[in-house]
Amino acid sequence: MKDFHTGFASSILSSLDASPSGLTEAEARRRLDAYGRNELRSSPPHPLVLRVLDQLRDPMILVLLGAAAVSLLASGGADRADALIILLIVVLNAIVSLTQEDGARRALDALEKMSSPKARLLRDGHEVTVDAALVVPGDVMLLRAGDRVPADGRLLVCAGLAVDESAMTGESVPVYKSLRDDLPADTPAGDRVNTVTASTLITSGRGRAVVTATGMDSRMGQIASLLRQGDPAPTPLQRRMGEVSGKLSVACLAVCAATFALGLLRGRPPADMFLTSVSLAVAAIPEGLPAVVSIVLALGVQRMARRGAIVRRLPAVETLGCAGVICSDKTGTLTLNRMTLTELWTPDGAKTSALTAAALCCDARMTEDGGVQGDPTESALLLAAAREGIDAASLLSRYPRTGETPFDSSRKYMLTVHARPEGGWRIAVKGAPDVLLPLCSRVQSGGGAVPLDDGARERLLLRNGRMAAGALRVLALAVRDVDVLPPSSAWARDLTFLGLAGLMDPPRPEVRSAVAQCRRAGIRPVMITGDHRATALAVAKDLDIYRPGDRSVTGQDLDFMPQSVLEEEIASFSVFARVTPEHKLRIVRAWQAQGVVAAMTGDGVNDAPALRAADVGCAMGLSGTDVARGAADVVLTDDDFSTVVRAVETGRGVYANVRKAIHYLLSCNVGELLTIFLASAVGLSRMPLLPVQLLWRNLVTDSLPALALGMERAEPDVMSRPPRRADAPLFDRRFTLRLMWQGLMVSALTLTAYFFGRAVMPAAGLADETANTMAFATLTLCQLFHAYNARSETRSVFAIGVASNPSMNRAFFIGMAMQLAVLCLPPLQRLFSVVPLGAAQWSAVLALSVLPVPVCELAKRLARPERAAPRRLAPRQKRALSTPVAK
Ligand code: ADP
Ligand code: MG
Repeated sequence: MKDFHTGFASSILSSLDASPSGLTEAEARRRLDAYGRNELRSSPPHPLVLRVLDQLRDPMILVLLGAAAVSLLASGGADRADALIILLIVVLNAIVSLTQEDGARRALDALEKMSSPKARLLRDGHEVTVDAALVVPGDVMLLRAGDRVPADGRLLVCAGLAVDESAMTGESVPVYKSLRDDLPADTPAGDRVNTVTASTLITSGRGRAVVTATGMDSRMGQIASLLRQGDPAPTPLQRRMGEVSGKLSVACLAVCAATFALGLLRGRPPADMFLTSVSLAVAAIPEGLPAVVSIVLALGVQRMARRGAIVRRLPAVETLGCAGVICSDKTGTLTLNRMTLTELWTPDGAKTSALTAAALCCDARMTEDGGVQGDPTESALLLAAAREGIDAASLLSRYPRTGETPFDSSRKYMLTVHARPEGGWRIAVKGAPDVLLPLCSRVQSGGGAVPLDDGARERLLLRNGRMAAGALRVLALAVRDVDVLPPSSAWARDLTFLGLAGLMDPPRPEVRSAVAQCRRAGIRPVMITGDHRATALAVAKDLDIYRPGDRSVTGQDLDFMPQSVLEEEIASFSVFARVTPEHKLRIVRAWQAQGVVAAMTGDGVNDAPALRAADVGCAMGLSGTDVARGAADVVLTDDDFSTVVRAVETGRGVYANVRKAIHYLLSCNVGELLTIFLASAVGLSRMPLLPVQLLWRNLVTDSLPALALGMERAEPDVMSRPPRRADAPLFDRRFTLRLMWQGLMVSALTLTAYFFGRAVMPAAGLADETANTMAFATLTLCQLFHAYNARSETRSVFAIGVASNPSMNRAFFIGMAMQLAVLCLPPLQRLFSVVPLGAAQWSAVLALSVLPVPVCELAKRLARPERAAPRRLAPRQKRALSTPVAK
């Protein structure tokens, strides 16, 4: 690799055939073809065949195949069809689960693409924003605080640029960059201060850099190619599922072993009994549970993405469902961030000098079509200035900017320095009035500046308070003319106060109903803002975030409040005003100390620690920085508070769906296990289900209906319950009981079918075969019907709408078709050792298979009155809430 840190930037530019004003679009396209996309390529997945083989390495499957081989040998080759069909079913099963997992993975990959970073470049001399993947060597990158560096580069411009390179070095102290051109060739990578590295984060300052390497050629690419890219870490639910399914497997194996022993005691042939027990184990062990959970989570992630919330870390899907408080930014999240200047107040009534200062101290600019580009607060001021006939562009050409202190939500003001045409400098400042006023010593009045006395200060603050109480965002404007420019630390003093600008920022239309929804769902909405307390209160009252009896607090108050007191009283505050991003961390921690799962929104560089600490950190997709997005669990594509609430709703629905899938799978498997266990205990003359039938049942009724349950729409009452405890056990007593009695029901129906078949057969002398066929048919079909019961734990399937889940209907019909084919088509009948059934048998099978529906409907009805009463948090539950979620 070339050393881009040695020598002059100009020679690097020419070696890259680039210029400081960037590439042309045509040249960029050419280079994209030549160098490829700026992406880290992950290793291609193994071919399907290998992955199917991988699945077959499951020890139980190996035992099954071994057992099939043994029985093939024991029967002297007579059971060839049996052995083959076992192999076939096992492979089919592996393929089904693989394709499902693939689908889940693809969904997650697609999401990663959606949240793909952007890059700001110079192309054809203009600033453009493109997908970071389209950056090519020779491009000029524009870098500013909050950005993620899109590619490796050599710096061309550097103004206080500091970069967090922990992604590369693990060292999180920001590295200050400079334009040095005297670095020796052997400078260690970490000390090449004149270069920037892809994937690192700009924490402050601005800069420009020419791209020296992209994609796999970048330093990150070289590291990535060394790292094996593993699967993402499992979510808490996945981990718990893994444990549960391990335990269930052991229990299941124990039952199978007991079945085997009982069968032997009853004098069954050992080889037969062994194959039966092993097939039973393979069919009944819920080895697919963790996979089902991952797939349902992935589906939830997809659904959230469609509703504006891109999940960056999978556990957030679950955690969202437990959120007990949403701490939201005001500007842009609760409000539209579409500002208009509605009030401009100056001591002498003249507006020109105030608006001139605003137009100078401004990063927004007018576009050719008369619009504005930039921060909404500044855009509003610029537009107002334009309406008064102040042309910012020509103003700036007469007063070129020579220095600045950028706006920052901790400092709460912005300052620019301009060279005056008549000589000397003009300092223009705008910012929060309560912050600026102490920096002012004079006030503009009737063409001159008069000293600012305490009485005047008092009056100005009153004025400010009155404007803020009308929900306006208020900025003070001030200037200072100097002949000799003081050092930057002394810029913001001795200012002349010019006036107050009041900006209107209307609330987002859906927020009011989202707040109401939060309250119904037992979630506390809280406002956090850098804005004035009166402004915040006015907006919060309007949105019903602040209610009589609530308290509001400012950042200053917080500074004097010990963390223990904040923790104690955190629940009484619904508005935090004039806070800095650093306060957000304390607020999150305080809620967590109360055992409440906290969601927090944020957009700036300084919000990152709070976003990371929050149980669910939500970054803004539109206005947020790359740094905030990188630290967040969820990115909101529309920056909207109501999107967070919708995501909580989806999160709750996902959890409910996981429960439904588990409930269905386990109640079916318990039914099957009980059936075979009882049969061998009693010593039936022929097993109700043969090994191939057990495996077939597993294929027909397990995966598709379980997944369809994962697609179930959220029930209407998910948002009228208090949040679930983060540590609530999945298998509570109610859940386990329900599982057991329904399993018992399934096995009772199957055995009933069996005995019916023994008594009433279509042709004489086929008692065993008929009994077996009927048991097989009933077990499979009743599970397909039972899947509809599992669609809600409490509500009648007729209330939900029998056909309202298309995936379920598809799973049902596919399962039916498969099972009927085996029961009715002669070649398949032979393969599966079933006999044709007559009208009487069919009627019995159908009646028994449908029976779970009325039974479960009745059970739901009996259980409902108790459930329908509004649930209050029991004291025990409240205390349990105080276990913070580990992140
Ligand atoms: P929030 O985003 O919570 O509304 P900010 O931190 O953006 O709060 O703003 C806090 C205060 O800083 C505002 O009330 C306003 O007075 C001032 N302010 C906001 N934006 C700017 C800006 N671009 N330049 C100068 N002052 C600003
Ligand atoms: Mg802001």
